[in-house]
Amino acid sequence: MHTGLHNAYLEALGIQRWVPRPAPATAAGSAAEAPAYKPKADTGSMDWEALQASVTACTRCTLHETRIQTVFGTGDINAMWMIIGEAPGADEDRQGEPFVGRAGQLLNAMLHAAGYRREQVYIANILKCRPPGNRNPLPEEVACCQDYLARQIGLVQPKIILALGSIAAQNLLHTEVSVGRLRGIRHSYGETGIPLVVTYHPAYLLRSPLEKRKVWEDLRYAQRVYRELAAGTSE
Ligand code: URA
Repeated sequence: MHTGLHNAYLEALGIQRWVPRPAPATAAGSAAEAPAYKPKADTGSMDWEALQASVTACTRCTLHETRIQTVFGTGDINAMWMIIGEAPGADEDRQGEPFVGRAGQLLNAMLHAAGYRREQVYIANILKCRPPGNRNPLPEEVACCQDYLARQIGLVQPKIILALGSIAAQNLLHTEVSVGRLRGIRHSYGETGIPLVVTYHPAYLLRSPLEKRKVWEDLRYAQRVYRELAAGTSE
């Protein structure tokens, strides 16, 4: 990316210059219990079309009663980077696309700062339907939705996953450890071994702009993990 444009995005993120961070700590804490939900359909073998149709028609949990529409996912289905957020908000519910509101604009700036356009990554959420009033997803809602996201990840086969915020990070990693303690560590997603890096949710950054620097550090860390992987130098 052109340096001037890159700097402009960094500025939009409130970042002046890169400061090296100390060595990362190790994650600790117990794995969260995943509530049991047995999907009736075999999502694990679905192609994109069948998966999207299944999500569109989903009535597994009560969120279908209050949604305008489902929010499946967007971007390059062959992307190297997959970005996973929490759940649609009001804007996403109206438009049927993840991260199109204010948090989405900040996510776009974050991606640009890392050298990516939104269309070059694949973006999805833990939940495909908006929780009323933007409350946190309930465990049973996450359980109902999790095989959809697992299949999306299986179809995209990204080289790296970036989890945005505690809901995404904790559910993908089955942990209750805070984002603050999950940052700066190369995790992996389930049994796939896909590297997973955690950072703050852009909606949190809108409320706490001083934390933007940490997100920039996390993006740099994710780039490093990805590049090492691409170069075949990671352990
Ligand atoms: N927040 C999310 O986690 N996902 C969206 O799609 C929008 C806001």
